[in-house]
Amino acid sequence: MTVKRAAELLSSAGSGLALTGAGISAESGIPTFRGEGGLWTKYDPVKVASIEYFMADPSAYWTASKERGRVALAATPNPGHRALTALEAAGHLVAVVTQNTDGLHQEAGTRTVIELHGSGRTVQCLDCGHREPRAAVQARLDSEMPPRCLICGGTFLKPTVVLFGEALPQAPMQDALALARAADVLLIVGSSLVVYPAADIPAVGIRAGARSIIVNAEPTPLDRLADVVIHGRAGDVLPEIVDLIGG
Ligand SMILES: [Zn+2]
Repeated sequence: MTVKRAAELLSSAGSGLALTGAGISAESGIPTFRGEGGLWTKYDPVKVASIEYFMADPSAYWTASKERGRVALAATPNPGHRALTALEAAGHLVAVVTQNTDGLHQEAGTRTVIELHGSGRTVQCLDCGHREPRAAVQARLDSEMPPRCLICGGTFLKPTVVLFGEALPQAPMQDALALARAADVLLIVGSSLVVYPAADIPAVGIRAGARSIIVNAEPTPLDRLADVVIHGRAGDVLPEIVDLIGG
């Protein structure tokens, strides 16, 4: 019944907006920061993935993130990502706002993706600004630690993600808030909605009158405000919604 109600809300949406978090990436095999059994249980993520740690010792940063990078680069979109692409293509979503940095929404074919925490697919030299794909840097980690800039030889090559201790880029957050205020339906997927300011986005949308659907494995602080709450996997629930709308 709840899936049917979600399909009804989305099928009539004129300015639907999706917000996704680590849960949908976890279904593609990308370990979450805080999840049980994740790679990060070996390290303190707040320390290892902080800007202070990176600036103090890029080698230590890259050594710790080498395995996670390998896993993230090998991951492919799952049926949850593809269902969001289908909802956008059918006009039920205007954009996907994501807390994830893995690029899987774009790989699944979603056209408008707002990345709140940047992209892990690109690496930038902090000395000269040169950018190259993460995959190219990843390929030389076995022989070069820390990796060096191909242009200037600098040793501060930083993925274009927001590390702990860095401010979120303003433009994507402002774009996401504007879309949330204008949205008639919010579809929140795989986010525990405990990380601020990203968790403000659905709260702003709901206050502005949007109907809301939450698809997450665990309860979230916004469940009691949502119109539909489905505790399940994105890869199971979202294709079911797409099928109901299409059928
Ligand atoms: Zn450089």
